[in-house]
Amino acid sequence: MREETCIFCKIANGDIPAATIYEDEQFRVILDLGPASKGHALILPKNHFADLLALDEETSAKVLALAAKIGAAMKKSLGCAGFNLVQNNGEAAGQTVFHFHMHVIPRYEGGPKMVSWEPGAPSGEELAELAESIKKELA
Ligand code: AMP
Ligand code: ZN
Repeated sequence: MREETCIFCKIANGDIPAATIYEDEQFRVILDLGPASKGHALILPKNHFADLLALDEETSAKVLALAAKIGAAMKKSLGCAGFNLVQNNGEAAGQTVFHFHMHVIPRYEGGPKMVSWEPGAPSGEELAELAESIKKELA
């Protein structure tokens, strides 16, 4: 399940070298070449999935546990105070490489502000309408 032209397929399967911090049968975890902070890592499945919607259940069940393991190792090795998990789906969401990946971004005391937004102020009615519309698709 590889895609010929996909750079993350090549990296995950060892065809292109990358700074690897973890590898098992299903995943490779590498350091991001354009890190948001020191130690920023990417969890890559070895099989090709374009995004979260394409991910199979077995792989998706393992990703979060692996992210926790990586985050815990970062806290010990890098001394970061916390970490963010970021996972972009679709161009509008900022996805630039269309092979599923989970960012694990170490956060340091006094470090740069990121993964933030200006909170909106929807009315109770708006929230209820939105909730109904999403709930319908989940039923
Ligand atoms: P996204 O915007 O969620 O698709 O994230 C893609 C990430 O992959 C960015 O943070 C890039 O810096 C990173 N990236 C792209 N190419 C490489 C590469 N060859 N090795 C390591 N990281 C990469
Ligand atoms: Zn791929």
